Amino acid sequence: MPAKRIGVLGAGQLGRMMALAGTPLDVEFVFFDQAKNSPSARLGEVIDPNEDGALTRFIDSVDVVTYESENIDANLVERIAQSTPVFPSSHSLRQSQHRLTEKNTFRDLGIATPDFKRVTSKVELISAVNALGTPVVLKTTTMGYDGKGQAVVKSIDDIDAAWEKLQGNELIAEAFVNFTRELSVIAARDTNGNTVVYPIAENDHHEGILRVSKVPAPNLDMAKQQQAETYITHLLDHLGHVGVLTLELFDTDSGLVANEMAPRVHNSGHWTIEGAETSQFENHVRAICGFPLGSTACRHSHAAMVNIIGKTGDRALVMAEPSAHLHLYGKTERLNRKLGHINIVADSQSELEQHIHKFEDFISECGA
Ligand code: AMP
Repeated sequence: MPAKRIGVLGAGQLGRMMALAGTPLDVEFVFFDQAKNSPSARLGEVIDPNEDGALTRFIDSVDVVTYESENIDANLVERIAQSTPVFPSSHSLRQSQHRLTEKNTFRDLGIATPDFKRVTSKVELISAVNALGTPVVLKTTTMGYDGKGQAVVKSIDDIDAAWEKLQGNELIAEAFVNFTRELSVIAARDTNGNTVVYPIAENDHHEGILRVSKVPAPNLDMAKQQQAETYITHLLDHLGHVGVLTLELFDTDSGLVANEMAPRVHNSGHWTIEGAETSQFENHVRAICGFPLGSTACRHSHAAMVNIIGKTGDRALVMAEPSAHLHLYGKTERLNRKLGHINIVADSQSELEQHIHKFEDFISECGA
């Protein structure tokens, strides 16, 4: 029997979009989150973890549990899994929560990744910089996202400042990758091990925040497409993953280099809502509930996602454009906050670029 009620740890925009995709399949949602006005709040029951008996009530009211962030308590996930299935499992979660564990897994599976060293003292930082050569990207091993918890050591003169900024945390020093662009590959795996992979997205970041994703990644040769698919398929099978998994990649002259993975639906996959036969959200719901996976084929030859950052902007401008689709998350405006996104579909690369250009103001706080 497929699961009927999904419990989500968290109630942000990813949970909201999961519920928007799962509701037509007659799946219901319960969110475990303390924020009352969160993006998911109107799409299902919200249980506040601080209330008496909240966890038991949450577990008893759902058939399966999932999550929308890798920065959650893996012990909580393991506790829930003793009585209710949690997908992706705590194994996938723990592997994605720790950059050293994650990069060792990449290496073990033959997935190219930057050279790296563990750093727990200034002496180790100096020896890592000597071994890796500058520039070095220094990151906290846990809890980093959108470029937070990072420092770039461009020369040995930057070591003191980088250490000052990040000391007190376990760190990873990574060799700087001279990439031409950033890509991501998203796939879903069901409980029987069946897998579907979406076309690869090209992702433009600014100040660590994703601004635009384009699909298919322009001029990506077949060898690299296959490399990305092989990487993610190996990861899914190795982890015994159930649900959506995302792998972020650097495109380099000598092939694709893995940066990090996320055991969840991903911002660079939002284009799938109108751009693919089955969205990443629906495929995640299908995978964790025990339904068959849906087609990842594109509905149009080209698609893009433009993030709405900081200010909501003029929504009528988006609605006036027939090939554009507005998705707002019900969040209040705040500097650098992801408030929504615009999906665009087009029949050619040039048409797609024209549309993206029209919505440039939404990407960078300049919206009206
Ligand atoms: P992350 O939090 O690991 O996704 O890193 C945030 C951003 O920093 C990435 O999207 C890249 O633009 C950049 N970055 C991270 N690691 C490296 C690296 N080893 N070499 C070059 N750029 C990097």
